[in-house]
Amino acid sequence: MNLAYLQDPVAPVLDVDSDEETLRVLLIDDDPAYRHLCLRYLSNVESPSFEVVATSTAAEGLVELEANEFDCLLVDYALPDLSGTQVIRTFQNSSSIEAPPTIIMTADGGESAAAEAVRAGAADFLPKRVVSAQSLARAIQNAVDKARLHKSAAVQSRELQHANEQLQAKNEEIQRFYQIVSHEVKTPLAAAREFIALTLDGIAGPIVDYQKEILTHALDSCDQIAAQFNDLIEMTRLDAKKIILHKEKSSLDDVVTRCFASVSMAIDAKNIYVKKRITTEIPPFWFDCNRIIQVISNLLGNAIKYTEPGGTITLAISHDAAAESVEIAISDTGCGIAPSDLAQVFDRLYQVDGEGDDYMGAGLGLGLSIAQEIVALHDGEISATSVKGEGSTFTVRLPIRQSNLESEETMK
Ligand code: ADP
Repeated sequence: MNLAYLQDPVAPVLDVDSDEETLRVLLIDDDPAYRHLCLRYLSNVESPSFEVVATSTAAEGLVELEANEFDCLLVDYALPDLSGTQVIRTFQNSSSIEAPPTIIMTADGGESAAAEAVRAGAADFLPKRVVSAQSLARAIQNAVDKARLHKSAAVQSRELQHANEQLQAKNEEIQRFYQIVSHEVKTPLAAAREFIALTLDGIAGPIVDYQKEILTHALDSCDQIAAQFNDLIEMTRLDAKKIILHKEKSSLDDVVTRCFASVSMAIDAKNIYVKKRITTEIPPFWFDCNRIIQVISNLLGNAIKYTEPGGTITLAISHDAAAESVEIAISDTGCGIAPSDLAQVFDRLYQVDGEGDDYMGAGLGLGLSIAQEIVALHDGEISATSVKGEGSTFTVRLPIRQSNLESEETMK
């Protein structure tokens, strides 16, 4: 084997600080004079220090690489047995070798040789005629640094991926937990509600007004807990992408009528004045009726919740033919939302603190974020404007393109 551990008799033996790093370099070049020159250059460099092993053929180099670890590989572009780029490919394809960063050197290579070397995965390309001790040492150091950076980035990326997988698994576990708890609680809760309702109706015997009042509160609390669990289940289903839209060609007028029917008792109880403004006729279009009812009922419910008795709620619907969209705006004359809170009301679990305490307790701060996700599933948008102390407007914009006026859209 023509393996030469090059020792240059004329090069000074440098007194290198023992803390200094020593970079192990494998040099593969069939030109003994050039091998000699490289060692001479590298042995003159003080920091870092280099330990060079040299071979004259790719086959010998491969044996060296299999047996020892190197920080960098210096390869001649045209070796007798393989070209420099073939050497890189051979090393890259070898399962037993972790190829170090490779610098290709050529006596007469031009741009095309450089491009070929880089394409093959070379860390750098050095024309031999311009090589000096400094440029050689710098190229090796740069290639090593770059490879280390790549390696640490790859390690970090693997760690991040691992962390991400763990988070996903945890998230799924939490979702399952929510679902199990919600289902487990909902059944006894429904039973408790039923017993309270029966007692309220006097089925279990006559009750006095004060008892009626207490039982009504108990019934409301059951409804509130059920609504909160529904929100939790809904959120976990949205997260798990389990919500599928069932679009049908529907009339928004019908949807609005059904929404108001569902909140009519609350509106009457708070003596709220309702205005409906539907400026143009809205043609029936394709959307998931139940889901849009859920969104509008939620916005109406909030408007009622955060508006003092005697206030006004306005529902305005308009069709923008040019923008191919329909807008549903629900305004109230309620407590309003401060600008700093407004930016976050669509965030999960966000509830406005402070004076809103009067209004708190009914939800989990999930309603608006659920509404936002349902609207997004329809390729629509939801937004809010508000003036603190004066009221708020929540606007839902749904696309109403020609395609979803006429034909059934692809189900999401
Ligand atoms: P929650 O179910 O707790 O009401 P939401 O996601 O529906 O949660 O709303 C988030 C927060 O946004 C509420 O806690 C409330 O502070 C504020 N908010 C929503 N709608 C209105 C409104 N019409 N007027 C004033 N504040 C509102």
